[in-house]
Amino acid sequence: MIKHNQKTIVWFRKDFRLADNLALQQAVAHGQIIPIFIFDHDIQANIGQSTKWWLHQSLIALDKDLNNRLNIYQGNPEEILHTLAVKFQTQNVYFNTIFEPEQLRQDRLIIERLQQYNITCTAFQSQLLWLPATTVKSDKTPYKVFTPFYRNGCLQSIPPRKPITAPKNIDALFDHENRTTLKDLQLRLQATDHLDQFWQVSEHGALQQLHAFIQDKLADYEQGRDIPSLQATSQLSPYLHFGQISVHQIWHAVAQSQAPAAQIDCFLKQLGWREFSYNLLYHFPTLPDQNFQQKFDNFPWQTNAKFLQAWQQGQTGYPIVDAGMRELAQTGYMHNRVRMIVASFLVKNLLLHWHHGRDWFWQHLVDADLANNSASWQWVAGCGVDAAPYFRIFNPVLQGEKFDKQGDYTRQYVPELTKMPDKYLHKPWLAPEAVMKTSGITLGKHYPWPVVDLDTSRKQALAAYKNL
Ligand SMILES: Cc1cc2nc3c(=O)[nH]c(=O)nc-3n(C[C@H](O)[C@H](O)[C@H](O)COP(=O)(O)OP(=O)(O)OC[C@H]3O[C@@H](n4cnc5c(N)ncnc54)[C@H](O)[C@@H]3O)c2cc1C
Repeated sequence: MIKHNQKTIVWFRKDFRLADNLALQQAVAHGQIIPIFIFDHDIQANIGQSTKWWLHQSLIALDKDLNNRLNIYQGNPEEILHTLAVKFQTQNVYFNTIFEPEQLRQDRLIIERLQQYNITCTAFQSQLLWLPATTVKSDKTPYKVFTPFYRNGCLQSIPPRKPITAPKNIDALFDHENRTTLKDLQLRLQATDHLDQFWQVSEHGALQQLHAFIQDKLADYEQGRDIPSLQATSQLSPYLHFGQISVHQIWHAVAQSQAPAAQIDCFLKQLGWREFSYNLLYHFPTLPDQNFQQKFDNFPWQTNAKFLQAWQQGQTGYPIVDAGMRELAQTGYMHNRVRMIVASFLVKNLLLHWHHGRDWFWQHLVDADLANNSASWQWVAGCGVDAAPYFRIFNPVLQGEKFDKQGDYTRQYVPELTKMPDKYLHKPWLAPEAVMKTSGITLGKHYPWPVVDLDTSRKQALAAYKNL
């Protein structure tokens, strides 16, 4: 039982905020805190270069919000927590749970082992709206289909708790003997310097982003969310992943807004998809690596370094695909509709394993998230739960013409096609010679020929899927 005026170690992990942070709130209520971050080489070393950049910026921002009192360490969390508890004579460690299999396993071990030294670790649940362990079907088995999961498992369950405000006075202790600095973690690589211009990584930045979205975009969310050039979505995903903002804060701010009910529901449902991904990951921890549907283990994926490179570099000759891949390279983000198009193209037209896509996204997305990335790739590949049926193969020309009709998005990221008229923008290889000339395009020189023929590759994919 904790007494007042006791010190508590608050271990920040993916909850880099002061408001609606249950672990922090509870610790502050009991007295002085020792706010810490531990760079654990076993877990964080595997994150991608863009999320390393985001983590670096997150630590700067949190340190500032804590009046430069964030203590940074690197190494084995169990050993570090033990050493700190002894050094600062405290028996209390607070943190918020991260619902990822490896992290949960590690937390269980740490809680157990530190208990032997009379150090009590208390885990708070603040990452998800509905806890995966209890959000199961009436027969206690996990949901595998989104709609019943969301409607019955989530909406008919206990409503999400209301967010809490940031503690007013935080008495934080700084470990002056600690020699580890942020620089030692080497999270910021030169290759990610360009991300500085796109993102304001801080709790304040997240709140600004949320309020601007509610004010300017939410009222047309349902209509706008599929049009990449409109930037009509919240772009909160990296903030949510790193916890600059909590899902509870977003849920309630949107639910209480003045926007039409249908728009609010449509947005909240996207948060529901995030809950679903985490629920799946919790109940099926092999989701990041293994096909959920085992029959896909025999799928005849191709090996083709040339195709993979064309996809990664945004040089496939399909403008909407290339625009998406270049948006990712430039900004660390890609619009959801375009994520689906490029992913479908990789697995169903190039017939390359979804692991290649998963890994590239993991490296380059600022919102790379184990649950969402794994579930989404499996969904597009057709091997996940509730997956897109195998015959649903996006045609990148039709998708481009439907969702980027005027070509603003495509021209932004594929500027060599700026002068190409709308009629041929998404299929430049069909443009008559005179149009190519006035557009200043020679295929193979200024912009690539299509890397595969759509019709042939589609038939090949269908045949392969049918054979399963
Ligand atoms: C192949 C593929 C890979 C993806 N990888 C990731 C990933 O690594 N990390 C990630 O956060 N999302 C991923 N997504 C889901 C989705 O594309 C992003 O969450 C969304 O584009 C983020 O933009 P936003 O914040 O503007 O979304 P909004 O439309 O504003 O939605 C609000 C929030 O809801 C959640 N959300 C929205 N759509 C989805 C979805 N389809 N699945 C799960 N949660 C969703 C996100 O947390 C998002 O921030 C992936 C989708 C695909 C098709």
